[in-house]
Amino acid sequence: MIEIQDLHKSFGPLQVLKGIDLRLEHGKVLVIIGPSGSGKTTLLRCFNLLEIPDRGTLQLAGLRIDFTDNRQIPRKTVLSLRQKTGMVFQSYNLFPHMTSLGNVMEGQVTVQKRSREVAKKRGLELLAKVGLADKTESYPHQLSGGQQQRVAIARAMAVEPEVLLFDEPTSALDPELVGEVLKVIRQLAAEGMTMVIVTHEMKFAADVADTIILMDQGVILEQGTPQQVLRQTRNPRALQFLNRLI
Ligand code: ATP
Repeated sequence: MIEIQDLHKSFGPLQVLKGIDLRLEHGKVLVIIGPSGSGKTTLLRCFNLLEIPDRGTLQLAGLRIDFTDNRQIPRKTVLSLRQKTGMVFQSYNLFPHMTSLGNVMEGQVTVQKRSREVAKKRGLELLAKVGLADKTESYPHQLSGGQQQRVAIARAMAVEPEVLLFDEPTSALDPELVGEVLKVIRQLAAEGMTMVIVTHEMKFAADVADTIILMDQGVILEQGTPQQVLRQTRNPRALQFLNRLI
């Protein structure tokens, strides 16, 4: 279970998160939507401490971190949290000098201290799972954006995280490549992977989410099932955002 309580984050005078509360059960998918600048990416980055909140608590993978008056999170805590969270970025962020297989093996060997043999076996399995069995020896520049993003998903999975975090995983892709990436994420959801996904793809959000949160100006406007958030909201600001998308 993941639980966030009263999370606050500012950049200088700009208050970006103004008291976020949420809970996510194991095996469920949480999708975060909302207008540009509402704080979605910042919230996602707090899950694995790429951003350190100013206030509030985070519980994840058996760890509980209280950020209040505690900006110096012990390095050990940061590392254990990072090992429990796999992140997939908008811009793939693959290691350019490594093949697909090398990318998927790297964390397993350096962080998890697996033997190269074991890491390779798992890497090949994961690349096959994301439909790239024939691209294991390709370098990122030899792959399409959709293929690179699927390698990034396999890499994030390779260290067996408790939760996968996706930051707008399809927004850098040409439209015709979006479907192949969403298909992989849908498959992971069906297999019970716990995931938190920031996306602007509303149809995908409606299909894949157990819970949607709609953020605006650093607060959660609506939180509930896709039906509740996308169809039944009466919140004027939520309606304004949703109506713009139709
Ligand atoms: P988008 O949909 O456009 O990606 P978002 O909802 O994910 O937006 P964030 O990226 O979380 O929004 O940004 C929220 C606000 O915080 C924005 O005003 C942004 O400029 C600001 N911000 C984000 N990161 C930083 C930073 N490192 N330093 C200063 N300001 C930042």
